[in-house]
Amino acid sequence: MQGLMMDRQLLISSLIEHGATVYHDREIVSRTTEGPIHRYTLADLRGRSKQLAGALTTLGVKAADRVATLAWNGYRHVELYFGVSGMEAICHTLNPRLHPSQLIYILNHAEDRFLFTDLTFVPLVEAIADQLKTVEGIVVMTDAEHMPDSKLPNLLCYEDLLSAEDDDFEWPDFDENTASSLCYTSGTTGHPKGVLYSHRSSVLHAFCVSLPSVLALSESESFLPVVPMFHANAWGTPYAIPMTGTKLVLPGPGLDGASLTELMREEGVTSTAGVPTVWSGLLDYWREHDTSVPTLKIMIIGGSAVPRSMVEAFDKEFGIEVRQGWGMTEMSPIGAVNMLKPEQRAAPAEERYDIQIRQGRAVYGVEMKIVDAEGNTLPHDGEAFGELKVRGPWVSRSYYREENEAVDDEGWFPTGDVATIDGDGYMQITDRMKDLIKSGGEWISSIELENLAMSHPDVMQAAVIGIPDDKWTERPLLIVKPKPGATPTKEDLLGFFKGKVADWSIPDDVVMVDELPIGGTGKVQKSELRKTYA
Ligand code: ADP
Repeated sequence: MQGLMMDRQLLISSLIEHGATVYHDREIVSRTTEGPIHRYTLADLRGRSKQLAGALTTLGVKAADRVATLAWNGYRHVELYFGVSGMEAICHTLNPRLHPSQLIYILNHAEDRFLFTDLTFVPLVEAIADQLKTVEGIVVMTDAEHMPDSKLPNLLCYEDLLSAEDDDFEWPDFDENTASSLCYTSGTTGHPKGVLYSHRSSVLHAFCVSLPSVLALSESESFLPVVPMFHANAWGTPYAIPMTGTKLVLPGPGLDGASLTELMREEGVTSTAGVPTVWSGLLDYWREHDTSVPTLKIMIIGGSAVPRSMVEAFDKEFGIEVRQGWGMTEMSPIGAVNMLKPEQRAAPAEERYDIQIRQGRAVYGVEMKIVDAEGNTLPHDGEAFGELKVRGPWVSRSYYREENEAVDDEGWFPTGDVATIDGDGYMQITDRMKDLIKSGGEWISSIELENLAMSHPDVMQAAVIGIPDDKWTERPLLIVKPKPGATPTKEDLLGFFKGKVADWSIPDDVVMVDELPIGGTGKVQKSELRKTYA
C-alpha cells in the first residue's frame, strides 16, 4: 500500500524560498575582494539569486547547462549556488588552487558555457582562456567601477547583468533527481573526476549538516565556513543556511589568522568548519597575539586527520569543542562526525581526546562497512581493519561522463580509506589504501605516527611515508616541519615514539623541511613526498 502523502520535490530553490520567507532578515556578511565588508539579508539573497537566474536566461543558459565559478566564499558565489541550480542549470565550482592545465581539462570536460570569476582570478583566467573550448563568456563578479582592464574576449560585468533584471524570476518545478551542481575531485592519480550532485541529494545533505550532532545550525548561530565553496560545496553548508536561518559569515580572500579572527570577533561567530592546516595557523596566531574568538563554540575539522594536539589546544586553551568530521567529495561530503556521547563528555580530558581523534560515528543517511581483501565484511570490534565502504542517498554512484559505475555489485562505494569501527560505531581511519605502509608483513598506520609526531612540542606539521626497503618491503620515514625557532633533533623525535607504538613501527629516519607540499584542498601531498624521498 502506498502512503498518501504529497510528492513535493526536494529542490534547492525551496531552500532559498523558505529562508527568505521565514528568516528574511537573517544576515549574510562577506569580506569582499574589492575590500569592504558587505552585508545583506536572506531576502536580498533570494532577490539577487532571481535576478541572476533572469540574467542567465537572457544569456541563453538552459536547463542542464554547466556554469562554472572561480571564486572565494562570498555573497555573489552564494547567489550563483541558488540562482544557477534554481533555474535548473548546473553550478560547477572550480578549485583555483589546481594547476592551470587541470583547470583547462576540467572546464573542457564539463563543457561549461559561462565562467564566473572573482577579481582575484582574472589573471588565471587570462592565462587559460584561449584553451577553453566551450566557454562563451566570462563574467567578473564585481561592479562596473571595479571591472579589470583586460583583453579577455566576451568579458561581462556581474552587477551590470543583474541590474538589467527584475527579481520576479519564477523558479521552475522539476524532478528532484535533476543534477544541481558539479565538483571535480582532485584526482591524485589520473584525471580529476566530476562528482554530480542532485537537488535531492543536496537538500537531504543540508538536513544532515544542520543536525545538533553535526553543526547544530539555527537562528541563534553565526557560522563561518573556512572550507572553500569550491571544496565539496563548502561541505554543503551554504544550502543549510536558509533551511535553518543561520547567520552566514564569509571570509572571502582573508584566510590568514588576523583577518579570520577579526571577522569572527566582529560577527559573533559561534561555529566554523575547515581542514586542519588552516586551524594550526589560527592557533599560532591566537597564541602569539594573546587573542581568540570568545563566541566560538564548535569547530568541525576534517578533510584529513585531526591531530590530538589540536583537539587538546582548542579545548584546554580556548574552551572550543572540536568535532572531527570525515567525508569525501563523492559523499557531498559528510559521512561521519565525532560528537562525544553524554557520558564521554564527563570523562577526564585525556580519555576524551583519545576518542576525539577518531573520525567519528556515521551520520544518519550514510551506512558503513569494512571489508577484507576478499570483500568479506569485518566485525565492528575496533580491532579488525579493512577498506571502508559506504552507501546512502548523498553518495555518488558514478562519475560525470564516465561509463563505469563507481560502486561495487552490491551498490557500495569503496572509499579507498582503511578503517576500524568499534562497538559504539566510532570509525577510525588508519590510512588511505595508497598511504598504508607495509613492513615485514605488518601494516603501519601513517596517520597514527603523524598524530604522535604532531603532539611533540617542537613539531608544526608531520607526514609519514613508506620508503621501499629490500628487507622489509617498506619502512616509515618521518618528515617534519618544525615550529618556528624550534630545532628538534632526530634522536629526540624518534625517542618520542618509544613506548607509545610498537618498536618495529617507529620510523627509521627523520627529514626536516621548511614546508610540506600542500595540495589544492589543503592536504599534505604524500604522492609528492614519495617521489622526492623514494
Ligand atoms: P581529495 O583529497 O582527493 O581532494 P576529498 O577532499 O574528497 O578528496 O578527500 C576525501 C579523503 O580525505 C577521504 O577519503 C579521506 O582519506 C580523507 N579524509 C577526510 N576527512 C578525514 C579525517 N577526518 N581524517 C582522516 N582522513 C580524512
